[in-house]
Amino acid sequence: MDNDLDELSRLIDTADRIVLFTGAGISTESGIPDFRSPGGVWTKMAPIDFRDFMRSDDARRETWKRRFAMEDVFREAAPNRGHRACAELIRCGKATSIITQNIDGLHQDSGIPDSKVIELHGNTTYAHCLDCKQRYEIHALRVDFEQDNIVPNCACGGWVKTATISFGQAMPIDEMRRAEQETLLADLFIVMGSSLVVYPAAGFPELAKRNGASLVIINREATGLDRMADLVLHRSIGDTMGSIMQVE
Ligand code: NAD
Ligand code: ZN
Repeated sequence: MDNDLDELSRLIDTADRIVLFTGAGISTESGIPDFRSPGGVWTKMAPIDFRDFMRSDDARRETWKRRFAMEDVFREAAPNRGHRACAELIRCGKATSIITQNIDGLHQDSGIPDSKVIELHGNTTYAHCLDCKQRYEIHALRVDFEQDNIVPNCACGGWVKTATISFGQAMPIDEMRRAEQETLLADLFIVMGSSLVVYPAAGFPELAKRNGASLVIINREATGLDRMADLVLHRSIGDTMGSIMQVE
């Protein structure tokens, strides 16, 4: 185990341009459940496809019901040691950016500037109209939903949805482009807390490796790309990255 930590330290020390890549696993230590751990959200319910959200009142209502049920968890969650270690890698200039599949905004809350966080799957801490992009706050929508049974909709007639990318929804073009540029410039690519089964996101670690970067995966369970990685740590992220970066 300690040899693995030494190797991770060495890879970080000798790298010039690190790109960090995170998934739901970095936020479990902040109290937000992931999807694919044993007992994770999807062992309990199937995701709602974007096309169903667009065509069905019931699907929209169910989507919002699930989102509001999670609101207290998202609102109370704070960055943990893993997020702080990432922030330190960015602050000291070793890492240039963080590509995240997460939608919880905790990287930004840990002090990383917006410009360095590439959100591949959007952000669930606010909502917007799918047509005119008007922003809506979750709290106000929740009051209307719970008191008056109103499913969020916009004055323009569009549907209001959290600012996330659902299955079946197009990936954000700018973010995909920036993530690709950053990946191609990286000499070390560190994955933290992702089962690496959701594409196209999981294509970035593959691309980094094929492009000559070293690939590190820190994840409690095995992932689909372990075989390809230079170093795999089946350990918890907070302790591992916290001790490497000497942050509490
Ligand atoms: P996932 O649920 O598929 O995989 C998470 C992985 O993290 C698991 O393999 C698990 O073993 C590992 N893990 C959990 N806690 C860990 C810890 N403390 N230390 C080390 N490893 C740990 O997550 P994914 O690959 O990100 O895919 C899920 C999708 O769902 C993402 O696209 C994301 O958009 C969304 N999601 C986001 C959040 C969030 O924003 N916090 C939460 C749930 C789901
Ligand atoms: Zn609108």
